[in-house]
Amino acid sequence: MAFTITLAHFCDKHGPRSIMCTQTTELSQMDQSTLPDFSKESYCKSCLLIYPKSTKGENVTTLRTEDTKTNHAFVSTQYSAIKFRVLNSIVRKCLSEEATIYDSKPMFFGDENRGYSMTQSFKIKDLEARGSERRYSFIVNCDQEHQVLENWDLIKDSILVMIEYLQKSSLKIELENSKNHEIYLRGKVQHSKSLIEMLKDDELFLKLHLWNSKLLRKLINK
Ligand SMILES: [Zn+2]
Repeated sequence: MAFTITLAHFCDKHGPRSIMCTQTTELSQMDQSTLPDFSKESYCKSCLLIYPKSTKGENVTTLRTEDTKTNHAFVSTQYSAIKFRVLNSIVRKCLSEEATIYDSKPMFFGDENRGYSMTQSFKIKDLEARGSERRYSFIVNCDQEHQVLENWDLIKDSILVMIEYLQKSSLKIELENSKNHEIYLRGKVQHSKSLIEMLKDDELFLKLHLWNSKLLRKLINK
């Protein structure tokens, strides 16, 4: 069983892209999942996974939580180096099709080549984005179809908690902005913006890593 959880978005500049991917690995193979420092040139702020700096002030590209009980580690990186092509095609499918449903029921699709995915897409309001909103998807992918279907409610409920948290935080910020009489002008230059900037939370991706790891731990303990 190899579950991965991907947070992807539709970038106004780059199209559908993975922002963060959390995968499970055996402790002895953890190095394979680690992503070395890679070129950020083709990433804009909204695409880039940004973790808080290390205590030594260094940039962090990989977060991992080790679980000696199950002999596994949960590793979060910008994308999965191991499943890059497969997940990339799923990200494109999720976020570029007109049929995608947002803020509603999860979708399920898959085949032997791409594995089986439950995806839940959602929107976050941002007056500085094209169409005043930004689109995201959580994608839980596994090579075994029955593993996704048997854990359907667990996966769906965990993802909904994360989405609700993100959307509630966004509403809170919007309310603060309107109280502070910040003026937004429609039609002004759109610029790329990270989720951490939109939600004013530098530790957001750290939190998502912990949430994803919790779900993955439950899935491997089943
Ligand atoms: Zn981008």
